[in-house]
Amino acid sequence: MPRLTSLRQIFFAPVAAVLVATATFPTSVHAQLDLESLQDEAVAWLQEYIGINTINPPGNETAGAEFFARIFEAEGIEYEMAESAPGRGNIWARLKGGDEPGILLLHHIDVVPADERFWTTDPLSGELRDGYVYGRGALDTKTSGILHLATFLALARTETPLNRDVVFMATADEEAGGFFGAGWLVEQKPEIFENIGFLLNEGGGGSDVDGTVNFGLEVTQKVPYWLRLTATGEPGHGSRPLVSYASTEMIAALERFRLHQFEPRVIPAVHVHLSGIADRHAEPWRSRFSDMASHVSDSGVMRELQIYDPGLHALTRNTCSITRFEGSNKINVVSPEVAAEIDCRLLPDQDPDSWLAEVRSVLGSEIDVEVLMGFTPAVSSTDTDLFRTVRDVTLEEFPDAGFVPQVVGGFTDSHFFRDLDITAYGYSATATPAEDAGGVHGNDERVTEQNVRRGVAMTIKILERFAATRPVMEDF
Ligand SMILES: [Zn+2]
Repeated sequence: MPRLTSLRQIFFAPVAAVLVATATFPTSVHAQLDLESLQDEAVAWLQEYIGINTINPPGNETAGAEFFARIFEAEGIEYEMAESAPGRGNIWARLKGGDEPGILLLHHIDVVPADERFWTTDPLSGELRDGYVYGRGALDTKTSGILHLATFLALARTETPLNRDVVFMATADEEAGGFFGAGWLVEQKPEIFENIGFLLNEGGGGSDVDGTVNFGLEVTQKVPYWLRLTATGEPGHGSRPLVSYASTEMIAALERFRLHQFEPRVIPAVHVHLSGIADRHAEPWRSRFSDMASHVSDSGVMRELQIYDPGLHALTRNTCSITRFEGSNKINVVSPEVAAEIDCRLLPDQDPDSWLAEVRSVLGSEIDVEVLMGFTPAVSSTDTDLFRTVRDVTLEEFPDAGFVPQVVGGFTDSHFFRDLDITAYGYSATATPAEDAGGVHGNDERVTEQNVRRGVAMTIKILERFAATRPVMEDF
């Protein structure tokens, strides 16, 4: 852990060095941050937080919100809590600062279910073993929450004057769409977000492949459009088939849809993303990714890409997966109605109406199309002080790392805030070993203790530079 050691050395620099380093800041007596104790607390908090069962469904995020409430009470920090439904708790706290647009540190309290049979420990244990904290939420995304909490408390404990408000927020229901969490707060408590200009949320961060570290900061994501398709027709008995009925109409429509290719194209954000990671891939992908636009019209290359990396392929076009079917509930009954559901993800610059018109024309007029869920496309700018600050702090800690603005194929709660014109970035100050990445929604989810400790220091540094008017850490 050489980097960690050097960080510690810097943070506990001698007083003389401190005076020089802080000479440009107004001098005043203020509480010193005990970083090492805070890092110890962060590891213990993470273990406790993982131990609180917030598996969604049902979520029971109120128990997680109360965990933060206890800490805020002990620290003498005001907070607010609100339930969107029984047990669906959300909590937020604010440090008041100057007039600059505020920053919101957001994470979700809920986690996905875990099947204990496939784990080597209880998924709710928070067990610390061989340098790892184990448990559901270790990567998605209770560690983010603890890094945010530790940073928020570092600012509060040192009474650091701020140029902007800093808001800590933990919400319910992200794993099921966020409508009882971030989406509900945006609707029901809009005043919280009035002076907020920036958001740090899950969705990006570092990966460590055998010591080669690369960071992605998520600036946009594909836009989910979940569609329900319905066909209706003459019902009847299975012994006397009709020429055409609901099932045959649906099967024919889905086959047309399966064969339909949405036109591939490389939007600017994806160009930046792919050219930024090109070096990490062997030929021919290195050359292709550095200039993807000149390859997307080659259907052979696109098929190869879909096999090579389905996630990257999905960044080059609108996609749909056919995921659910509902037919007759009896084998000998021709149902008057059958349904299918498809999970579509649009490129972030796609006009949803024209895309829906294309979908309808492929499926045909016999199929009724209902939009179950659809978000507004949006891309956050990289030309901000927050982007530069996150990049600088990351590269100071990982001088050899790549750092690219990233488009992700999945979605997070960030879209609720991009809709409010808040600059939203997906970023966690952690470099997850590649072999652990499968733990997200998988088995034996775990985070290295080093990532927690280093992540606390890095996140404090980011907020210190972006929001503080004097140093939080003495060497700064
Ligand atoms: Zn998550």
